[in-house]
Amino acid sequence: MKPEAGLLGRPARLAAAGFWLVALAGGGAGVMSFLRHEEAELSREVAARCVTTVDALNQTLFRTLEGVGHVQTLLQSRERLLREGRTDAARAIDDHLADLTARWAFGILGVATTDATGALSSSSIPGWAPVAGPAHEEVRGPFAREPGAFVSEPGVNRVSGRWGLEFSQPLQDGGGGFAGASIVSLDPLLVSRRLAEVATAEAATAAVMRLPDGALLARSRDAEAQLGRAPLGTHPAVAGAHEPPRPGFRTVSTVDGRPIIMCFRQVPGWPMVLVLAEDWAVVSQPFLALQRAAWCSFAAIMLLLLGGLLASLRAAGLRAARRQLADAQSEGAARAAAWARMEQLLLAAPVAIYAGRLSDAGPTPIEAAFASPNVKRVTGWEAEVFLDADQARLRMDDAALGARAEFRRRLLAEGRAVLEFRWRWPDGSWRWLREEARRVSPGGPEVVGYLLDVTEQREAAAWAAASARLNMLGELAANMAHELNQPLAVISLAAENAAAALQDDGLAGIPDALETLDLVAQQAARCKGVVQHLRLFSSPDQRQAVAPVELGQVLQGAMLLVRGALRDAGITLHNALPAGLSAIRANAVGAEQVFVNLFLNARDALARLPAGAPRQIRITAAQEEGMLRIRFADSGGGIPPELLGRVFEPFFTTKGSDKGTGLGLAICQSAMRGFGGDIGVRNGPDGAEFTLDFPLGETAPAAAAP
Ligand code: ADP
Repeated sequence: MKPEAGLLGRPARLAAAGFWLVALAGGGAGVMSFLRHEEAELSREVAARCVTTVDALNQTLFRTLEGVGHVQTLLQSRERLLREGRTDAARAIDDHLADLTARWAFGILGVATTDATGALSSSSIPGWAPVAGPAHEEVRGPFAREPGAFVSEPGVNRVSGRWGLEFSQPLQDGGGGFAGASIVSLDPLLVSRRLAEVATAEAATAAVMRLPDGALLARSRDAEAQLGRAPLGTHPAVAGAHEPPRPGFRTVSTVDGRPIIMCFRQVPGWPMVLVLAEDWAVVSQPFLALQRAAWCSFAAIMLLLLGGLLASLRAAGLRAARRQLADAQSEGAARAAAWARMEQLLLAAPVAIYAGRLSDAGPTPIEAAFASPNVKRVTGWEAEVFLDADQARLRMDDAALGARAEFRRRLLAEGRAVLEFRWRWPDGSWRWLREEARRVSPGGPEVVGYLLDVTEQREAAAWAAASARLNMLGELAANMAHELNQPLAVISLAAENAAAALQDDGLAGIPDALETLDLVAQQAARCKGVVQHLRLFSSPDQRQAVAPVELGQVLQGAMLLVRGALRDAGITLHNALPAGLSAIRANAVGAEQVFVNLFLNARDALARLPAGAPRQIRITAAQEEGMLRIRFADSGGGIPPELLGRVFEPFFTTKGSDKGTGLGLAICQSAMRGFGGDIGVRNGPDGAEFTLDFPLGETAPAAAAP
């Protein structure tokens, strides 16, 4: 038994899974929203720090470039002094500048001027010599007449032989015309170091880029490897340098595509933009740690929740299993008690019950799967004996063996069959058993049936039938005496005649006497026939089998008994039986009793009619659907409609207890059903009309009915 799978309901498991999934989705969404919020906070924090740093950098750079601006102002003054012929004053400036250069003050490596053609006209580098080729490559801004200062890319100064950034401006002659360029060479690595001093954050990189082309002039990290590089594509700082200052923002590096937070500012008065970038991969480390911690905690909580759910499901499953076990035990106990009670009832029941399937062969047409424990009490033998086809055959009388084939046929065809048969007990006595079986479902093989010992009922019925017959005979006694009186009178007269003939004529009278004695013999035979019929009628053999009999003979026998009674009552019989009727299947004596009973009932009904009213009985017959249907109608006024349904009840009579027994029609019905036929009644136009349905026999009669 698997409690989780089998005992805990599917809905409970689905609910638990649903709860877990909702917790997973809800918790996941919560964690994500928390992390998004934390990330945004961190971004804002870093961006704010960027802005502060960039502003500080701008101050530093501004101070450095202030020195450059002063030097350029001095060079313009020197130009003017030389033009005015004040060479001493100009030399003093040269000395000052040489001193500055020698000290690398403000990071200035050298100072120079060119004439209007671009040829070097002065330099602070001691022992300087004119350079080969035009100098204005590095100082092309002034020669291109661009307004303001120009900054070169980092490169090797051709006079000093040192790496420098050349800051150049046009020199004006006395009339404001172009007189050449002033050049200040600044150490780019010094600028880079200044940047590094301010941009101290671990992830921060500060850089200075030239406008408008974005060439890298200084960089706080890897300066020597990076300087002079042109950016890949348009750098956002270059594109937005002239726009109003904006806060830091997330973007990707134009150098290596790494996510960064960037902030930039234009350097006031110089064609340069200052950029600060913080590497998101570095600054977000605490956030990533927080992210990892959050997801780990979430996973741990979900696992704990899952474990808890599984544990509670298991506990609930075990509880359900225990409950089911207890239920099953109490159910089993209740079932056992119910079964014991049923067995007790079955044992005490007057009928034995069996259930099984229709079988193809044997005297027991049913293979029993169940038999109630009282089979032995009903049959005298253990259930196995009754249910075993071969053993059962040994205990049935011969008639039952034949009847069983018919029993099976009916069960198959009609779904129900009834059979009464003689059965021998272990002590050798015979008992009558009634067996009735029905199909459980139409056309299905399962059948249920019961067995009942009907020996007493049959004896009582036989006794009732016999007494009813005797009652009838009592009623008919006078008529029977008349039936015998007539031949006896003939015999007596004939005997007297024969005696007289012998007495009077001697030997000559012998032929006459013999003829007369012949008549005596005939009448004696008639008497014998009547007496034999009476004997047969009064004590018919109960086991007389149903067999093909001719309806004419049956009616003849009945007429022998009732003829006198009908004649005395003034009743006319219309016998309208057609010729060539098929034989019927019946017990001749039983069928005769049916007719005698109908005749006597008709006689009683007709006796109530006023004098002079027509008193008639009409018998007709017709063959219908494998049956011979007899209509037996009288003109006695019929049966009150409210009593029509009761006339076949045993002991129902309207004739008073001194005259009627109420058994006549009940015996008729039981006899007709015993033949496989039936009896019915209705009121015809003049009186009661009984219908008798006889099954047809195999042989057709040779002659017409009487
Ligand atoms: P019994 O003749 O002893 O009364 P039956 O069973 O033969 O018993 O008849 C039962 C009752 O049916 C009769 O008492 C009678 O009321 C009614 N009955 C039977 N046959 C006829 C008939 N032909 N006409 C009118 N009533 C009849």
